[in-house]
Amino acid sequence: MAFCVLIVDDSPVMRAFIRRIIVLSGMEGAEFLEASDGCEALALMRRQRVDVVLTDINMPSMDGEQLLRCLEADDMLKSVPVVVVSTDGTESRMHQMLALGARGYVKKPFMPETLRQELERVLGGADAQ
Ligand SMILES: [Mg+2]
Repeated sequence: MAFCVLIVDDSPVMRAFIRRIIVLSGMEGAEFLEASDGCEALALMRRQRVDVVLTDINMPSMDGEQLLRCLEADDMLKSVPVVVVSTDGTESRMHQMLALGARGYVKKPFMPETLRQELERVLGGADAQ
């Protein structure tokens, strides 16, 4: 199954790390797009089909919370599943992001397996083993 993952994080190191984890996890057919904040992510998503978004929360200019709000308000984009990947693991933050429409939440640092499971879950488990 080919699918396009948009990785949104202001840290290039974290973007590369997430990408590598997905490649190493053995999920086949992953293609990647990257954005360093919510503005860039939205611009990309209006040009190109994205199957799943992995987003950080703390980013300059447009953070993950604002990105979620923008996506939920956009009829074309609100069906794209979003998984939050953040160092903020507080219950209130997780509940808030899920209430805003996030489909999943992974707290940094995470085990590679955790990220893979979340991706498979939101993508419908087509590659589940
Ligand atoms: Mg950040």
